[in-house]
Amino acid sequence: MKILVPVKRVVDYNVKVRVKSDGTGVETAGVKMSMNPFDEIGVEEAVRLKEKGVATEIVAVSMGVAACAETIRTALAMGADRGILVESDADLQPLAVAKLMKALVDKEQPGLVILGKQAIDDDMSATGQMLGALLGWAQGTFASKVTIDGDKMEVIREVDGGLETVSLNLPAIITTDLRLNEPRYASLPNIMKARKKVIDTFKPEDLGVDVTPRLTVVSVAEPPKRQAGVKVGSVAELVAKLRTEAKVI
Ligand code: AMP
Repeated sequence: MKILVPVKRVVDYNVKVRVKSDGTGVETAGVKMSMNPFDEIGVEEAVRLKEKGVATEIVAVSMGVAACAETIRTALAMGADRGILVESDADLQPLAVAKLMKALVDKEQPGLVILGKQAIDDDMSATGQMLGALLGWAQGTFASKVTIDGDKMEVIREVDGGLETVSLNLPAIITTDLRLNEPRYASLPNIMKARKKVIDTFKPEDLGVDVTPRLTVVSVAEPPKRQAGVKVGSVAELVAKLRTEAKVI
């Protein structure tokens, strides 16, 4: 079974995000970029499925500017077999990414697509679900455990009240949650080997997809600054402040 793993290039999770001075978005110039952490979990899961003999080939896909090839190289160093870059300077919103992914699924015919549950830059949490709808495939979103048996897959999902277990027919979509696994670090030999692996490049037009944005960002603002805290002298004073000032008890 072939697995497609979309990997998004996002601002590194350790970087303190700054809003552009004109409020049109987040500053990315000169900022460290990395693979979306939920996509690292996706690559790790695919590699584990290959190590178990369930998967035969892992294809890492990234969409966006030419530098997304670096994100694909990271996936290749973790164990993906080859990469596909869909190169575009346009703002690729979830519907556009889902349509591009559908075109690649039609071409590649995978048994499974493993996406992140959300990209940490825009927190859309929409692409996997949109892809599931476009393909008419079953989806196990927010997955914390995945077991594949023949053409069936059991997914344990993280839901508000606890865990939900669903049984799906393959081909299907998974979106990864934090507890699914702990991604490996790429070893130096594997980083070297990844340099030789193939990355095919397409433009959205090659895949027949119109990526025109459907959403307009009106403005982006930083959250209000937190007020400095105060030290209280006793439990009684804390309780009094919570009651009379914060009015939370
Ligand atoms: P989102 O719906 O934007 O929160 O993204 C959810 C998931 O969709 C991500 O974790 C990726 O797996 C995938 N994805 C979204 N945008 C891209 C992109 N530009 N390139 C590759 N994968 C993407």
